[in-house]
Amino acid sequence: PEQASSGLPKPRLDYRAISENAVFKSHNAFNRKALLPVGAVQTVARLYEEQKELLHEVGAKRHARSTVGERVRAAAKDPRAKEAALAEAKSLKAEITELERRLEEVEDRLYALALAIPNDTHPDSPMGPESEAATLSTHGPEPLPTSPSRDHVSICRALNLLDLEAGATVTGSSWYYLLNEGALLELALVNYALSIAIKHGFTPVTTPDVVRSDIATRCGFQPRDHNADPPVSQMYHLSHSSPDATTSALHPELVLAGTAEIPLAGMFANKILNAQDLPRKVVGLGRAFRAEAGARGADTRGLYRVHQFTKLELFVVCAEEQSETMMEEMRRLQVEIFEGLRFPFRVLDMPTEELGASAYRKYDMEAWMPGRGGWGEISSTSNCTDYQARRLHIRYRRPLPTDAAPASEAPSAPLPFAHTLNGTAAAIPRLIIALLENGARIGSNGEVSGVDLPKALRPFWVGGESNAIQ
Ligand code: AMP
Repeated sequence: PEQASSGLPKPRLDYRAISENAVFKSHNAFNRKALLPVGAVQTVARLYEEQKELLHEVGAKRHARSTVGERVRAAAKDPRAKEAALAEAKSLKAEITELERRLEEVEDRLYALALAIPNDTHPDSPMGPESEAATLSTHGPEPLPTSPSRDHVSICRALNLLDLEAGATVTGSSWYYLLNEGALLELALVNYALSIAIKHGFTPVTTPDVVRSDIATRCGFQPRDHNADPPVSQMYHLSHSSPDATTSALHPELVLAGTAEIPLAGMFANKILNAQDLPRKVVGLGRAFRAEAGARGADTRGLYRVHQFTKLELFVVCAEEQSETMMEEMRRLQVEIFEGLRFPFRVLDMPTEELGASAYRKYDMEAWMPGRGGWGEISSTSNCTDYQARRLHIRYRRPLPTDAAPASEAPSAPLPFAHTLNGTAAAIPRLIIALLENGARIGSNGEVSGVDLPKALRPFWVGGESNAIQ
């Protein structure tokens, strides 16, 4: 029922490409530590052959049946011939029904297996676990030495910027209130990052934070992880999706979006775009909700790993040949945003085991957080190539060829699937951590007297210009 719930057609998976590159695809799945049944790729190749044979057989039998119909009519005056033709028609019908049943069975298995196969990987992506990430560049000032007095939770307490206790009372642990300049900082960061994205041609959008779980699945997220033991949910599910109890059975399962990438990708679902209009670049503001099942330890302290946060997300739909260039354009834009915030950060090319199901290539950015004493991820950018577009049916039409330039595609060729990319422009809590821990003014006694803020935020400060939290 989850699959059907958005009303979109079934994802169009490329069984032929999987079958023709089975060895490559299974190595790729192995390198990415994708959770696939043993021999899944080879089984897809075998089932694809079976599907083709069955389709051929069904076609032949249907054709035979149509000719029997004619023989029945022609033998109207010959009862014997008529009886024989009728018997043949009956047996053909039974054979067709049986072949159709087998075809459906094969197609269901084929689909379920192919759906779990991850995207291909960029040839330059490093191989292995997180520790194999390659540093592409470093930016900003020299990192400050680690210092417990720069811990963002203590800074927030000293300056009255955060209320974790009220968050725990009202909702639970890892829920929070931002107070005073903490709240203003969120708004300033959103508008600052938004202004840079708009300057680079991204169209601003505010998104629904509640999405059908089917749309999340089609973007490559697993609303329920059945592979975990016991199964866990990384998304919050709304238990009563419909306010109208009488029709609730007809309503799809709804979840709180873990990222605006989901509603932004969904915005283009089932669309055929004109190649001339590509790339389409949008920047979406939403709240991200994360169940963070299994998270514990230092990461859950303060604002680092919380259940709800404001996030500004870049999203691009483009033609196949544009996606690698777009990934670099997004990286430059993100570097511009974070350089303006004047803390040390670095750009990483993420290795195979960190790519998830949908990313072909992924760049993470990490900021130095001297209070935490480490680099912390502040942003993540993925080129999903056609992975999401195949599942969401996002296609595009190239302009009709002129006489001078002959068609490279036959007019009847299926429309190509678009490529999609997503990237964080600003994930607020971690930017606040980086700003506070790097910008705090600490006295010789270890006391916090304030925080110096980057000049770039001044024009976005509600209620007047500010360059410091006192
Ligand atoms: P992701 O979509 O998981 O790549 O996350 C995008 C960005 O959101 C990350 O780079 C982090 O900066 C931030 N982020 C992810 N999860 C959390 C969380 N639970 N709490 C606060 N920030 C988060």
